[in-house]
Amino acid sequence: MKMKGYAMLGIGKTGWIEKEVPICGPLDAIVKPIAVSPCTSDIHTVWEGAIGERTDMILGHEAVGEIVEVGSLVKDLKVGDRVIVPAITPDWGSLEAQGGYAMHSGGMLSGWKFSNFKDGVFAEYFHVNEADANLARLPSSLDPAAAVMLSDMVPTGLHGAELADVQYGDSVCVIGIGPVGLMSVAGAALRGAGRLFAVGSRPNCIEVAKAYGATDIINYRYGDIVTQIMDKTGGKGVDKVIVAGGDNDTFIQAIDMLKPGGRIGNVNYLGAGDFVRIPRVQWGCGMGHKTIAGGLMPGGRLRMEKLAALLVNGRLDTSRLLTHRFQGFEHLEEALLLMKDKPKDLIKPVVIL
Ligand code: NDP
Ligand code: ZN
Repeated sequence: MKMKGYAMLGIGKTGWIEKEVPICGPLDAIVKPIAVSPCTSDIHTVWEGAIGERTDMILGHEAVGEIVEVGSLVKDLKVGDRVIVPAITPDWGSLEAQGGYAMHSGGMLSGWKFSNFKDGVFAEYFHVNEADANLARLPSSLDPAAAVMLSDMVPTGLHGAELADVQYGDSVCVIGIGPVGLMSVAGAALRGAGRLFAVGSRPNCIEVAKAYGATDIINYRYGDIVTQIMDKTGGKGVDKVIVAGGDNDTFIQAIDMLKPGGRIGNVNYLGAGDFVRIPRVQWGCGMGHKTIAGGLMPGGRLRMEKLAALLVNGRLDTSRLLTHRFQGFEHLEEALLLMKDKPKDLIKPVVIL
């Protein structure tokens, strides 16, 4: 049987294609999307060629959907279940997963399969490996559009706060307040940050950052962000930095504004260039105890269920991210191009199917 999908045709090129409906393995599921959202990562992949050439690969890795087929060894999930689909779907029996880094199962970043190593979710149907371990039931109280933020924005943004190891009362700077950084702001606040700086420029993102708990806004268009942070902290800097925007040179600023003993959590996808530079003196000539941690979001059903509990119990409201709602498959292209062009009023588009 054939299906339609919106694909990367090659670097810099996208379009609709037809493919065979994927085949369900014994541990797997075939899912029909209910709501999907494009990601800035799709833009790095297509227009920066960040992961190399891909031909006719269906895009998208953020979805909630309904199961239409399960493999013979799937125990918990069944046809008709509505599920949250994490962007990262590891192989749970791998050694990397046993070592605690399931997102790198099968090799670095290889837990990221949708729209990387296999067709993504911008299709009439898509395949999910190890369904019982990777899919979480969609709580009935959640709006599917708000719940689609659980695929990637919530786990990635909150992982930034984990990587930076935000502790009660820490001063934290979140660099970048697109949808990922906004979830890092929310994550840092949930973990008990004291003073919480948010770096961005779009007015609607700034408003939402304040709603999620930012105490100070730093506009990078108004001058060097390190100078602005130092001015506001009496020259001390911050305990933790979360990087969710900017470019390779953002690390220079992050290290510079960090106190000795501080930690940087990076979730930004560095889509171009060969090196990240570390400023020698600001890094304490190698002895400053300034740690850089960078990571792909963890996947997995348990994690998804726990993050969904934040929404169900009113601790996190992802609907604030949704600035553009579309109805119908045919709007996928428009939604993706919004992510590419980033108009000023955009935070995140969602397409309901
Ligand atoms: P956006 O493009 O929406 O947001 C980027 C943010 O960075 C904006 O707030 C922007 O400000 C700000 N910014 C841009 N340039 C600078 C600069 N020079 N200095 C400081 N801030 C700057 O991106 P998303 O929130 O959608 O995604 C963020 C990153 O996370 C992307 O690279 C994405 O690919 C990656 N990602 C990583 C994942 C992971 O698992 N690690 C998963 C999903 C995404 P302005 O207000 O002016 O727009
Ligand atoms: Zn993504």
